[in-house]
Amino acid sequence: MTTILRVAVPGPLRQLFDYLLPAEYAPQSLRPGVRLRVPFGRRAVVGILMAVAEHSELTPQQLRTVSEILDSEPVLSAAMLELIEWAADYYQHPIGECIANALPVLLRQGDAAAANELRWRPTVAGLALPQGALKRAPQQALVLAQLQQDVSLNAEQLRAHGASAATLRAMVAKGLIERFASASTSSPAIESAKEVAPTLTDEQRDVIDAVAPSFGSFNCYLLEGVTGSGKTEVYLRLIEQALARGEQTLVLIPEIGLTPQTLARFQHRLATSIVALHSGFNDSERLQAWRSARSGSAGVLLGTRSAVFAEFDRLGLIIIDEEHDSSYKQQDGFRYSARDIAIKRAADLKIPIMLGSATPSLESLHNALSGRYRHLQLRARAGGAATPLLEVLDIRHAPMRDGLSPRVIEAISATLRRGEQALVFLNRRGFAPTLLCHDCGWIAQCPHCDTRLTVHASARQLRCHHCGYNKSLARICPDCKSPQLEFRGPGTERLEMALHELFNDVPIVRIDRDTTQRKHAMREKIAAIQQEQPCILVGTQMLAKGHHFPAVTLVVMVDIDGALFSADLRGPERMAQVLTQVAGRAGRAEKAGQVLVQTHYPAHPLINDLVHTGYHQFARKLLAERRATAAPPFSYFALLRADARTLAEAEEVLAAVRAQIAAHPVQIFGPLPAPMSRRAGLFRAQLLLNAPQRTLLHRAAHAAVICAEQLAAARRVKWSVDIDPIDFS
Ligand code: ADP
Ligand code: ZN
Ligand code: ZN
Repeated sequence: MTTILRVAVPGPLRQLFDYLLPAEYAPQSLRPGVRLRVPFGRRAVVGILMAVAEHSELTPQQLRTVSEILDSEPVLSAAMLELIEWAADYYQHPIGECIANALPVLLRQGDAAAANELRWRPTVAGLALPQGALKRAPQQALVLAQLQQDVSLNAEQLRAHGASAATLRAMVAKGLIERFASASTSSPAIESAKEVAPTLTDEQRDVIDAVAPSFGSFNCYLLEGVTGSGKTEVYLRLIEQALARGEQTLVLIPEIGLTPQTLARFQHRLATSIVALHSGFNDSERLQAWRSARSGSAGVLLGTRSAVFAEFDRLGLIIIDEEHDSSYKQQDGFRYSARDIAIKRAADLKIPIMLGSATPSLESLHNALSGRYRHLQLRARAGGAATPLLEVLDIRHAPMRDGLSPRVIEAISATLRRGEQALVFLNRRGFAPTLLCHDCGWIAQCPHCDTRLTVHASARQLRCHHCGYNKSLARICPDCKSPQLEFRGPGTERLEMALHELFNDVPIVRIDRDTTQRKHAMREKIAAIQQEQPCILVGTQMLAKGHHFPAVTLVVMVDIDGALFSADLRGPERMAQVLTQVAGRAGRAEKAGQVLVQTHYPAHPLINDLVHTGYHQFARKLLAERRATAAPPFSYFALLRADARTLAEAEEVLAAVRAQIAAHPVQIFGPLPAPMSRRAGLFRAQLLLNAPQRTLLHRAAHAAVICAEQLAAARRVKWSVDIDPIDFS
């Protein structure tokens, strides 16, 4: 009898491939989830064994033989394989690519899944050492800063950062760093010095008491807690309970939500080793974190989206912080929602999961209000902080200065005089969003996209924020040769300069994608803010993500008018979330906060509702509207996209797909050009499917994918399917 191995190989193919087992292996020793090196076309690739079978549709002559079996133990557990197969089916994505998303890069390339590498990490004393304390030993200061940022490094990585053996010895002697076997189960240093936990508020206690009985069984909780209400404290207490049961916790956080502060806060409170997994880490660090979770040596894994696929020895609890954050949905390739997969995973494993947010997504809110999730609330801020007061500023007729009204300038000035900090929020980076010729009306456009180029003044460039195209800033109009070029509209760079002129005696800290690219930039900026000296923060929504800035008492929203008229279905929801989250940075400590919202439309219902009733009521009203229009979460969407060299080509493919699925009981819109009809040189078209039930939508989307796969014309276009899309651009 022959043994057939059914293998998932990385790549865009929606099928498994059959291989023969080499003669020297006994079939009993093989379990699904082990990695195999197999010949594929003219290459050798690392695939995952999905099943062992006795028959193949191919003849033995057609079958090729596995070249190498890489693992004795599966790298992916049976439960994980099942979860990935479910996700591949749900999101209509090739299984090989789904698996590739679940595995650290080095495992995909064939590295060993377990190891006992010796690594360095900071001790508690090292973590707590204030900046500047190692002033006389700059080399040591550098190494410590690196370890505080990266959590742990191996000898080779430290050498790459310039650490000599003598430096490391000196730091060990001072008790600042230590070596540990990365797969070991103990972490004595972390267990020694613990911060004292605050006494829980009654609301926090109620939440914890409500969740505690469900350890060991599935339950999904939505924790709706206003900004600063102490959600993190709730997470910490629940994690402690999981640890006491000998169980691990997976904590998912948004893409840029993980700061060394978050990590330190967890490390100072929890008697376990905590590992972090996010895109800022290199491949070996990611593999390291993955191994610690899998071996059980780490009690907590703190990670961004892809950490939802991390393996654990005994996972007992999942927490998703800022569950409304759009970074949980992958926007290309395998377009999964980490939040939704996490809920499925918790249900499979029969463990509790908590979704936390001050501004829950309408999906989660609907599930909570309809009783599918248990709804828990924290209505008051913890630690005595007051909820900030929102005030709408009518800026019609106001003499503006680089986007700032006199009232705002006065408020910033008063804040600084009191020795406090102001945060100025504008969701647009660069100097100005438009370069316009005053004499002929010419506007700088991206040659590859259907969008304007943004002026970046200090780099003296025009840049496309969609495709990365850039060119140097012209001094004269290319059309009429006039030198009357105008920078229209504000960006964060422009605000920074304007504020600098207005308030030249305080530091201005700008936080956006342009100023935080350098590796430690974000950390240095946040450290500067946390000195609590008077300063002005300027930034995009990077500022809105969960930071705790105790000295900020004034928040200014420079321009929200664009968001009021967004054509996007989720425009109002997103606007309300960003506004509430940014406002939530104000007055988080003892001092009360003030929030000023500049607008030309003070009577706009979106603003009024939000300001007067708060997100809690506002979101319920949006839900009622969605119900009335049968929009999600009261119906379900799938979006088929096609990108091609001409719009006709893209639309032709989608039209052919539409014809094939016409009999399905779903509504079909399109083919239509995408709202951004051209990006990075390709024309973009869309076909939108909508159905009142998931199963109907799923069947139609599946049929559409099968059709597109078989369509000859589809090979010339880039097509994709997005289930539960959140971005319709
Ligand atoms: P959230 O995550 O809900 O925005 P945090 O967990 O960051 O809120 O808490 C906000 C602040 O309140 C933090 O400084 C935290 O230390 C403090 N805090 C939380 N719970 C309590 C409590 N029970 N007593 C006193 N202070 C608390
Ligand atoms: Zn001109
Ligand atoms: Zn472009």
